[in-house]
Amino acid sequence: MGRSTVAVANEQVSIVTVLQMLGIELPDDIGSGRSRKLHCPFGDVYHSDQGASAAMRVYPETNSAYCFSCSAYFTPVSLAAKAMGCSMPQAAEQLLDRVGHRPLDLAGQWAQAKEYEPDPDKALLADALKTYCRRKHPGWEMQQFDGSVAAVLTRCLGILDLVKTANDATTWLDVCKRAMDRALYREQPSLSQRYDLLLKQHRTEGGAP
Ligand SMILES: [Zn+2]
Repeated sequence: MGRSTVAVANEQVSIVTVLQMLGIELPDDIGSGRSRKLHCPFGDVYHSDQGASAAMRVYPETNSAYCFSCSAYFTPVSLAAKAMGCSMPQAAEQLLDRVGHRPLDLAGQWAQAKEYEPDPDKALLADALKTYCRRKHPGWEMQQFDGSVAAVLTRCLGILDLVKTANDATTWLDVCKRAMDRALYREQPSLSQRYDLLLKQHRTEGGAP
């Protein structure tokens, strides 16, 4: 295990949260990032004025606080440790418990890293399909607007919503490429079909003697 509980708690737990836990009254704009003056949790014990003045300054940006009366600098953990009268590691564990932080062991981190899979980019997939059609079918620019071709493309893009994983994305692209191929070849008569067509036209136009 690399990092100490104290370091993790100082990073995961806000100094403002600790002050809240200690019952310190906080100004409404405490979350604004500006440093604020507060009453020190130890004022009644350690300050010469028994905590009458707001002698503590909290610095949300560095997640720390400084009491001008105590002349003491506090991190979330050192503040909690002093308030609870326990060691820093004990305070750190308590704080992490309070904010619901579950430390991950190496196996846990690995499992989480493996599970992480960003959602497939649907716009990118749609583009990939259209690029495929454009490259494979020279007449694509016109054909994409033909009734049956447009209908198949609409169906393909419609089922993009079902694509959730990288595996789905591969399957989607495979299936849709084949569907588009079928639609585009059907729409565009083959050479022999065109030849047949020409022959038929030639005959009906009175080519026969
Ligand atoms: Zn103080």
